[in-house]
Amino acid sequence: MQKFHLLEPISLDEALGVLAKEDARVIGGGTALVVLLRNRLLSLRYVVSLGKIPGLRIIEPCGDGVYLGACTRLRDIEGSALVAERLPLLRTAVGHIGNVRVRAAAMVGGTLCEADYQSDFSLALVALGGRVRVRGGRGERVIPIEDFYLGPYTTALEAGELVTGIEIDGAPRGASSAYLKHVTGPVTDRPCVAVAAVVGLDAAGRCAHARLVLGGVNGVSSRPLRVKAAEDLVTGDKITAKAIADMSAIAYREADPASDLKAPAWYKKQMVRLFCRRALEEALAQGSRSLATG
Ligand SMILES: Cc1cc2nc3c(=O)[nH]c(=O)nc-3n(C[C@H](O)[C@H](O)[C@H](O)COP(=O)(O)OP(=O)(O)OC[C@H]3O[C@@H](n4cnc5c(N)ncnc54)[C@H](O)[C@@H]3O)c2cc1C
Repeated sequence: MQKFHLLEPISLDEALGVLAKEDARVIGGGTALVVLLRNRLLSLRYVVSLGKIPGLRIIEPCGDGVYLGACTRLRDIEGSALVAERLPLLRTAVGHIGNVRVRAAAMVGGTLCEADYQSDFSLALVALGGRVRVRGGRGERVIPIEDFYLGPYTTALEAGELVTGIEIDGAPRGASSAYLKHVTGPVTDRPCVAVAAVVGLDAAGRCAHARLVLGGVNGVSSRPLRVKAAEDLVTGDKITAKAIADMSAIAYREADPASDLKAPAWYKKQMVRLFCRRALEEALAQGSRSLATG
């Protein structure tokens, strides 16, 4: 690994000053960045840790949702009662990431900015909705999560900008969710196929809110794929077994995976249909139970 200087600024302004002037990059937990440095796929003069800047390792209420600071560790999310109550989908997805060592090191900022198209985290965020808070030399910007991911390993961040945190919307009150991940290798792998489903029912048991998002299967844009046509199909209606089959068939048609070492494209498409059905059934069963118990 080439030598670099590790800088630990104590304020955002100081960090932005370094990022504006020098050959520098922010480091979070380093679980992705250090691999690039070690394999000489990237060389940097300065690596900037935000760990000494106050207020960036924080989990707090934000509207009906939750705000996560950039230096919050994935393990903090897993252990948070607030996240468990308001964002159970995110908690489940985070629990699927790598292993405990990875989750103890990896941070919200790094996990967002790595922008891997097979990321469990970004898939859950797109299903829930949210806004990324960004600081740069020209002040603060707030970027909707769906606009943050531009493509494989590419975000909407401009040179000299850094992420300070993310506001995540809670699913509507009473909504239920499911997150299912299918791996073809070790359990610590990124998903071959993953599905996030959110379903909100009204008092009459009709669908008032639906989200269906796929991960690992969008070969063209390489970012989480929201299946809006499937969501629109059920909104306002009862979610019957036929509706679930139709939604899963739409997801099957829209998924455009690439063949890779995990699986051939045709297999991933079959798994999309299967896991969409299972995720929707699981979310619906939870929603119907909550409706029955009031
Ligand atoms: C063994 C292993 C198993 C894994 N399994 C999974 C899995 O099952 N599912 C899954 O989704 N992922 C998995 N991952 C990926 C893992 O989730 C990411 O490596 C991790 O979340 C990245 O977070 P980090 O804080 O370590 O980022 P870093 O490595 O520190 O940084 C990643 C990128 O983000 C940039 N960055 C960091 N913080 C900021 C900031 N505040 N502002 C702007 N840019 C920033 C860095 O410059 C770098 O480009 C696995 C990784 C490993 C090593």
